[in-house]
Amino acid sequence: MTRAPTPPSSARSSPSSITDVDCWNGDVWDCIVVGAGPAGAMAARQAAIRGLRTLLVERKVFPREKVCGACLNQRALTTLAEAGLGSLVADCGGVPLNRFQLRCLRGGGDAVRELSLQLPGGAAVSRAALDESLVRAAEAAGVQFLSGTSVKVLPREPRQVGSDTDPRELELSTCDVSREPHRRTIRSRVIIAADGLGHPSLKRLTEFPERVSASSRIGVGGVVSHEGDLPAGVIGMAVANWGYAGLVRIEDGRLNVAACLDEEVVRHAEHPGAPLIQLLEQSGFGTIRADLGAWTGTPKLTRVTETLASDGVFVVGDAAGYVEPFTGEGIASALVGGLAVADCAARAVRGSRQAAEQRWRQQWEQLVWRRQQWCRRLAWMLRRPRAIGAAVRVAAAFPALARPIVLHLNSPRRQRGRVSIAADDFA
Ligand SMILES: Cc1cc2nc3c(=O)[nH]c(=O)nc-3n(C[C@H](O)[C@H](O)[C@H](O)COP(=O)(O)OP(=O)(O)OC[C@H]3O[C@@H](n4cnc5c(N)ncnc54)[C@H](O)[C@@H]3O)c2cc1C
Repeated sequence: MTRAPTPPSSARSSPSSITDVDCWNGDVWDCIVVGAGPAGAMAARQAAIRGLRTLLVERKVFPREKVCGACLNQRALTTLAEAGLGSLVADCGGVPLNRFQLRCLRGGGDAVRELSLQLPGGAAVSRAALDESLVRAAEAAGVQFLSGTSVKVLPREPRQVGSDTDPRELELSTCDVSREPHRRTIRSRVIIAADGLGHPSLKRLTEFPERVSASSRIGVGGVVSHEGDLPAGVIGMAVANWGYAGLVRIEDGRLNVAACLDEEVVRHAEHPGAPLIQLLEQSGFGTIRADLGAWTGTPKLTRVTETLASDGVFVVGDAAGYVEPFTGEGIASALVGGLAVADCAARAVRGSRQAAEQRWRQQWEQLVWRRQQWCRRLAWMLRRPRAIGAAVRVAAAFPALARPIVLHLNSPRRQRGRVSIAADDFA
């Protein structure tokens, strides 16, 4: 089903300068969403559908790549379909996924155990294309998009604290070097922080402390050309006791590679991509040749934000908490969270802010936190080579035993608290 990829949109008209956006007349926005990953773009679109005047602000200039395995599971695809975006991934040229090929290095490094499992669905698509298309869908719903602009949410002035309705202030500064530097302060009734790991936009606020796992791994990845024989539709995964790396063909035939590695291993490597290349080579996935500039990294991955909502600020997606990505759950959680948080944002604008914030805490626990328990268990196992070796041996001998786990991880079924999508209860 590989289709022609959507052309890069830099040529399309989209405001990308602070001065371009109609937001300086002192008006208060209903909703400002920080970060245009899947969580932010989905939240912004849904907020606009619910009738909120919404601004989506992103510090990178789009389209941009990002460290990610680029695999959407069935839950992500179902969530897009429920939001009326069922053709979005196919329109990006998304490659249907059908097989998961796992190779584990034993002890010294060269012997490999192998397991191949059929997947119940899913698709591979570059983050450049996916995130760009989601932003276009948000714009089509009425969202204003401002890229190349970094946001910091400002602390309340002491006299403002305690009000249930006062808008919040945000400082926006241009970080697109091709533009004039610019800094402005604007106001919004509600803010959705969807700015990924570590929620950088909230650093000036004391209400959103994070717990970062000291032993957490970091992410490294890139999109590269590769002559190896990995067919389209197969997720390759190589596991060693110091990390794991996944690779998959995306819409233009290139390879998306992403790894989760011990920080020490990366620190002592020649360059961030070197351990990943070595792992894939030793596992028989072929040799990757890429410029040093092809690789980017992430901060520590496993973390949780202790406050999910406070005083008009809602936190969603990786910004709310994340677990190592072996199960490819992150985009699904970001999309599901984006849908649900927009509903809570609309309730905060039109009703009681405190009730809306309480609702968001409950929704996040039901929709995201419980599913992350599976990722936690797998992350624990992946650090124990004997446990993973034994699991691979059993699953290779009895594939039927692994099937329920694969199905569960892909399950679109949500536990209680279904997310409502239509703008019904505020009409
Ligand atoms: C190695 C690795 C492999 C992975 N593989 C998969 C996979 O195969 N499948 C899957 O489903 N998930 C995978 N994930 C997880 C997935 O990438 C994330 O869960 C997902 O991107 C979260 O989306 P988000 O919208 O919350 O955040 P992000 O996608 O991180 O988006 C946040 C956005 O906010 C912007 N931003 C940050 N700060 C500011 C600021 N101050 N002002 C304005 N904008 C800002 C950033 O530029 C970014 O565009 C993987 C992750 C890693 C690290």
